[in-house]
Amino acid sequence: QPIDALTEEQAATEAADLRPQLLKWGQQYYDADTPAVEDDVYDRVYARLVALETAFPAIVTPDSPTQRVGGSARGDLPKVTHDIPMLSLGDVFSVDELKAFDERLRSNVEDDFDYNCELKIDGLAISLRYENGEFVQGSTRGNGQIGEDITANLKTVKSIPQTLSRPLTIDVRGECYMPKAAFLALNERREAAGKAPFANPRNAAAGSLRQLDTQVTADRQLATFMYNIADYEPLNTRTQSGLLDELAELGFTTNATYQVAHNMDDVAAYIDQYQGKRADLPYGIDGIVIKANSLPLQREIGATVKVPRWAIAYKFPPEEVETVVRDIEWTV
Ligand code: NAD
Repeated sequence: QPIDALTEEQAATEAADLRPQLLKWGQQYYDADTPAVEDDVYDRVYARLVALETAFPAIVTPDSPTQRVGGSARGDLPKVTHDIPMLSLGDVFSVDELKAFDERLRSNVEDDFDYNCELKIDGLAISLRYENGEFVQGSTRGNGQIGEDITANLKTVKSIPQTLSRPLTIDVRGECYMPKAAFLALNERREAAGKAPFANPRNAAAGSLRQLDTQVTADRQLATFMYNIADYEPLNTRTQSGLLDELAELGFTTNATYQVAHNMDDVAAYIDQYQGKRADLPYGIDGIVIKANSLPLQREIGATVKVPRWAIAYKFPPEEVETVVRDIEWTV
């Protein structure tokens, strides 16, 4: 039913039905690393809940999945508190929605600003703590405030530097992922051994990190792209694009495909470019992320309890659906 045809009571009833379903799928996806449904099924139900709660703000509940970063820490792994929370990202599914996000943001910001466009890597968020340039602790996002301590496992990931090129004390954030080739080889080995294959590279990466045997992680050929820092003060740069360059100078692996966009035409061109290249990349991406490029502006704009207000993810259509559409076109 269209949202504008609903009464507040009907919207509240529908939202109350959707929340437990989303929480259950979220628990299976984030905590057990075994998703029960495809991401686009989850995304569509989540988008409906967002639309209901946006139209009727009074029906929002504090335990709604729209108000919490998904996931929780596994009981048998030590916990880490994130002093600066690790957030999720708002998402949109069309260029029109992206333009609406841009217009809303620009109407709240006095000066002109650029975006940095980045690929949305399909892995899981990690935080790496360095003290005086030495790697001391690595953790998962968990519920955003409390994650899991996976330091020993992350020490086996080759792209994570043990020592930085400068003795900084920083929390660097990014994505740990399993390259496509490693994922296919792993699932072949698992099937040959009679074990259930992983549903996708994201779950394979999460399953490889969120377990207790360091040797298992070491054998899984995980990789990282780092793209964020909890507090930018220790860095020289004051832009998101400069941050990616500075992280690379410090010794991190960053994704080199980023581009600064002056307007939404530039963003749309970036989307077209990487939607076309998606299948050929050696790692999975599920969209692109645009971020206000100025770090002080990011800070000024701030965040909700769940997502930064200065960034948004544009999600690609699921790859399988694209194939089906192409097949239908061929048979017509
Ligand atoms: P998200 O994964 O869509 O977006 C936020 C995350 O994007 C960040 O935490 C970060 O890890 C990641 N990211 C990748 N590249 C980035 C970049 N360049 N810059 C910044 N961040 C980047 O949001 P979420 O809240 O973690 O999870 C929602 C997603 O999980 C949806 O895609 C949804 O489909 C999926 N999900 C699926 C199920 C299911 O049952 N299939 C259940 C729950 C969630």
